[in-house]
Amino acid sequence: MLSKSALARLAKEHGTPLFVVDHDALRKNYRTFKKYLPRVQAYYAVKANSDPAIVKTLYDAGASFDVASLPEFMVVYECIKDMPDKQRQDWIWDKIIYANPIKANGTLQALNQYKPLVTYDNHEEIRKIKKHAPDAGVALRLKVPNTGAMVELSSKFGAAPGEAVDLILAAHEQGLVIEGLSFHVGSQTTNFQNYVQAINLAANIFKEARDRGYAKMNLLDIGGGFPAPYDATVKPFRELAKILNRELDRLFPEDVQILAEPGRFLVATAGIAISTIIGKAMRDGKLCYYIDDGVYHTFSGVIFDHCQYHFNSFKKGATQVCSVFGPTCDALDVVSMTEELPGELKLGDVLYSENIGAYSHASATRFNGFPPAKVVHVNQ
Ligand SMILES: *Cc1c(COP(=O)(O)O)cnc(C)c1O
Repeated sequence: MLSKSALARLAKEHGTPLFVVDHDALRKNYRTFKKYLPRVQAYYAVKANSDPAIVKTLYDAGASFDVASLPEFMVVYECIKDMPDKQRQDWIWDKIIYANPIKANGTLQALNQYKPLVTYDNHEEIRKIKKHAPDAGVALRLKVPNTGAMVELSSKFGAAPGEAVDLILAAHEQGLVIEGLSFHVGSQTTNFQNYVQAINLAANIFKEARDRGYAKMNLLDIGGGFPAPYDATVKPFRELAKILNRELDRLFPEDVQILAEPGRFLVATAGIAISTIIGKAMRDGKLCYYIDDGVYHTFSGVIFDHCQYHFNSFKKGATQVCSVFGPTCDALDVVSMTEELPGELKLGDVLYSENIGAYSHASATRFNGFPPAKVVHVNQ
């Protein structure tokens, strides 16, 4: 964790709005994931934060990668472009999953030469993959309960359990190699039963596929959703890991390879946003601070990620409930309506928000002419 004085120094040196990435935190989160889930290969979900420096640090730490667009694939490819051809091909096969179930024809054509593993969840996609990326391996994405996740991901993707084996057999008939199953229990899942249900569902589908003549699946991808410790209500990762290890060992023999696609868990605690108060007003009796970063920028997770961030002040003083607004002219640009901050802060004072590494800078826009925050990497 970066100290308050280190953050103050960075703000002074670089100005604000500033987005600080702590690479020690990235490495620590990766180590924690591996320590508690030794059987699980961790594919960093690049969409959480696709900064090439983050990808590189996780690559150096030994991570694999989940990509969901061609540009994301190329960010990872940059790390391996100098490998000898054969080694690079093997690396892609082992360590990249293209986990977007819907892919444009042109994307499939571009991907085919790299032979990655790709996910699918419907018959149209089988035809597309067969035609445009016949050399890719495939994994079927299942629809699983997302109850209680902060961000649900099952309304848009996933084959219903009842049609799963039909889709496996259909892809097999087309000559594709179905390596296994994948699912996503919803992002920031604090209801650990989602994982238990999904793993059990997947085990049943492995069995049904075998009973109906397809016994070649040897991979289970348990997706993302591992919760970041945003507040004290989030149970420790080791508790979730214990449940996962128990279910995986009970239901899947050792020769089944287990993958996961952690995004938020690896990167959330590695990001800190530093902003400056640029305006102050009383409106309807409530104190309002205006800062130089907002929901169109680093705090985009307020909108897209249903995430609430909190502010810390470098200055002490009696606190009061206040609103924090972003710099744009849009009334949507509300970062928080319920912050506890010192009431005596002045224009030019600096605030910081921790645990903002995931789904934040990644979805920042240039709306209203305000560029995204400057990014600074520390402990790289
Ligand atoms: C977004 C996404 C992830 C990452 O999810 P987190 O909740 O950030 O861990 C993993 N896999 C897929 C397919 C995704 O869409």
